[in-house]
Parts: sequence; C-alpha cells; structure tokens
Amino acid sequence: TNRFHGRVALVTGGASGIGKATALRIASEGGAVAIGDVQEPAGIEVVSEIERSGGKAVFVRLDVTSEQDWANAVEVVVSTLGKLDILINNAGIGDTEPLEITSLDTWNKVVAVTQTSVFLGMKAAAAPLKASGNGSVVNISSMYGIVGSGVSPAYHAAKGAVRLLTKTTALGWAKEGVRVNSVHPGFIDTPILGDTDREMLIAGTPMGRLGRADEMAALIAFVASDDASFATGSEFVADGGVTA
Ligand code: NAD
Repeated sequence: TNRFHGRVALVTGGASGIGKATALRIASEGGAVAIGDVQEPAGIEVVSEIERSGGKAVFVRLDVTSEQDWANAVEVVVSTLGKLDILINNAGIGDTEPLEITSLDTWNKVVAVTQTSVFLGMKAAAAPLKASGNGSVVNISSMYGIVGSGVSPAYHAAKGAVRLLTKTTALGWAKEGVRVNSVHPGFIDTPILGDTDREMLIAGTPMGRLGRADEMAALIAFVASDDASFATGSEFVADGGVTA
C-alpha cells in the first residue's frame, strides 16, 4: 500500500529494533522518514537501506533527553523534508533491578530517556504537527506501562507516565488536527532485551513466543496512518496475551 505517500515522519530510536522496523515500514509505504538517534553509524545504515529500496530518508543526531537536540532535529526535518506530519516517540532504555538497589542515577536516566523525551518531543514538534492539518503522534510505552512486574521501577513509572501524557496531550490537541496515541508492546526480540533469559520471557507469554519488531512496526504504522483516523488518546496493546 501507499498509506504514507506525501507524509513525513520522525522516528526516534530509529537505528535499532522496533524503531528501525517502523522506519522501514513507513518508507516502504511511501513516507519520507527521519531517523533520530544517538547511534549514528547504525542510523545512517537504516537511511541507506531505505534509499537502496527507492525511499526517502535522512539521519539526524538526536539525544531525546536534550531540548536543544529536539529543536535542531525538528528544524532539520522541516528544512530537508519540507514538513513534519508524524512523530514516533520510540527511543527508550530500561532498568532491571528491584527498587531497593535502583540508584538515583539509574532512575533519573531511565526517566529522562523514556518519559521526559516524550514531553520534549511533542513540545518541540507541536507547531509543525499542528500545521500539518493531519498530524499523528505515536508514543511507544510498554505493557509495563499498564501492569507491574516487581522489578524496574523507573521503567514502569516512566512507561505509565507516557500512557497518561499521551491521553492528556490527545485531549489538548483533539480539535487541532493532531491525534496522539500510545502503543504497548510485550516481549519483543530486539537488542534491548540484552542477556535477559528469552526462555523465561517466552514461558511468560501465552502465545508461547517473543514478538518481532516488524509486528510492532505494523501496529505502529496502523496507528500513525489515516486507517486510525478516529483514534486519539487510545492505547494499543500487542503482547501475545500477557496482560489479557
Ligand atoms: P532497541 O534497544 O533495539 O532500540 C532503542 C533505540 O533507542 C536504539 O537505537 C538506541 O540508540 C535509541 N536510544 C537510546 N537512548 C537514546 C537517546 N537518549 N536518544 C536517542 N535515541 C536513543 O530497543 P527496542 O526494543 O526497539 O525499543 C524501542 C522502544 O520499545 C523502547 O521505548 C522500549 O522501551 C519499547 N519496548 C520494547 C519492548 C521489547 O521487549 N523490546 C517491550 C516494550 C516496550
């Protein structure tokens, strides 16, 4: 299909995993894509992959915790691709420890990359998204923005915050032509899992397998596209049944 023909998207964390799959998916459906990430060589490789298949893409160095980087990234996207219609706030990092041994440094870092980034991104992109007339924001939360797990307090708190930041921004912008929704993945086989025991995650998933980045990309693309034109402030879960 050509759902994103004439549309411009910025995908944060687009150099790896779910963000990379989402950038490839939007480009394959005719959208121009900006990859915003701190991983420069990997991000540039995604741009090359899109260009090799005839798509349009740019890389912009973006640390999502920096307000200055955000201002620059939005400026680069609008000046090189002409506008900004779609923002995918996907960059994220996790913590893995129980609360008692989570350091304040870890807490602050995870909250900055996972939660504050979404606030900064929507604020920086607000003007072009409204000017689009048909803007769409997809914030990548997690099933752990909906239910708890017993560890990773910073990650859960930040992902839960993303869920409500999504809803309140959606209501604020509902009459401004910008939809804002959240997507909540379960266990997806990407580098963020690190050396986590995959068999344990599979055992905890009713469908009996990990999800794939391209499966998340398909859902994110749906939510970002006009196929979801009446959805705003909504949460879309894809977790193989974990939270069912
Ligand atoms: P990933 O590690 O493959 O990709 C994350 C990307 O974010 C990387 O390219 C990394 O460079 C980038 N990034 C990290 N810090 C950044 C910063 N400060 N500025 C800009 N970019 C930064 O992981 P993924 O699984 O693709 O994760 C994508 C999103 O999906 C994250 O928000 C994650 O929390 C969420 N998620 C993942 C899973 C899963 O099981 N994989 C489950 C639920 C939610």
